Amino acid sequence: MSSVKLDRISRKFTGTSTQPEQRFIGIDDISFEIPDGEFWVLVGPSGCGKSTLLRIIAGLETATSGHVYIGDRLVDRVPARQRDVAMVFQNYALYPHMTVAENLAFGMQMRGVDKATIELRVGDVAKSLKIDTLLDRKPKQLSGGQQQRVALGRAIARSPQVFLLDEPLSNLDAALRDNTRSELKQLHQQVGITTIYVTHDCVEAMTLADRIVVLDRGYIKQIGTPYEIYHQPIDRMVATFIGTPPRNVFPATYHDRQWLIGDRQLTCEQALADQLKLRNGQGLSLGIRPEYLKIVPDETPDSLSVRIDGIETLGRETLLKVSIAGTTIPLNLIADAEWSQRVGNVSSSNLLGTHLAVRLDPQWLFIFDPTTGERLYPDR
Ligand code: ATP
Repeated sequence: MSSVKLDRISRKFTGTSTQPEQRFIGIDDISFEIPDGEFWVLVGPSGCGKSTLLRIIAGLETATSGHVYIGDRLVDRVPARQRDVAMVFQNYALYPHMTVAENLAFGMQMRGVDKATIELRVGDVAKSLKIDTLLDRKPKQLSGGQQQRVALGRAIARSPQVFLLDEPLSNLDAALRDNTRSELKQLHQQVGITTIYVTHDCVEAMTLADRIVVLDRGYIKQIGTPYEIYHQPIDRMVATFIGTPPRNVFPATYHDRQWLIGDRQLTCEQALADQLKLRNGQGLSLGIRPEYLKIVPDETPDSLSVRIDGIETLGRETLLKVSIAGTTIPLNLIADAEWSQRVGNVSSSNLLGTHLAVRLDPQWLFIFDPTTGERLYPDR
């Protein structure tokens, strides 16, 4: 086990775009240190540099500048196989001609570990991943989920200093993915190997991570605990990236203690206007999570009228896709599972096009600079 430190890592690829600002691609000036034994998750939109960063740590890619340390060791010039890291990819690539047991043992054999130790270790790892009944099978005799467990097991069996996982669950179906995710978390708690995990999936990021690193176009946007990333996003990009459905963000103009939203008005608290020194005519972006938009019986000065455009029954709750009345500004809001029944026991389609009053709880309101996306409220 080991810490991992990145010191000002950049990787530039030569782009083909004629636009100078799009010619730089890759990652730029990334620094962070993962303490020994922690589980960090890299997230961000496609192309933000997650895999490149992971490959640089693994030694499969060379940084244009900057340094990588594994523990106290500078590994910039250390080849991948001598870095003592194990990497698992989305396409798990097991050795097809070897049995599960042989696949698990391979890394240890290559390092000259003795036979008795290998047998013991293969047994332990297979048991912890619940593949101990499959040890004699070849990969093609396994389901996708089983193959992925073997790939994870092969990496764990080597007892590497660092575990690098690049979207390891994305080929699995939803149920298997949930199970394997929980098992991965338990496994990490047992073995405590420093882990860096790349994913597109916010639920994976939130549930697995000690800390989440949000990347955007090659830069670090924010590093924080799942709670911080979800509740205290540094800017609009992070605010709308994490969470399903994402945080609602919509334009509003301030005027005399009112937010003007389309042709609607909503009270803006005096204290807030004073704190942000809001000027009449100032345009801002307001943000609120779907779960903090509350349906209220009647319109009030601090509620908005919205039109129902879509209803998705999700079982535990109902997702309402609405738009602010008189505008095309879309919002998501979460109502409870029985909501449509309570409204009058009508079928969902009869509710489309009807209007609701929703209250924006000021306690959960975020305000962003409409140009830079920077968070203006709450204060940082
Ligand atoms: P995804 O989530 O889609 O897998 P990612 O966040 O992992 O994306 P990377 O694969 O790390 O992103 O790529 C980061 C950027 O670098 C992208 O713009 C990509 O096109 C570019 N890039 C990656 N590898 C190369 C390469 N070998 N040559 C040129 N550009 C590359």
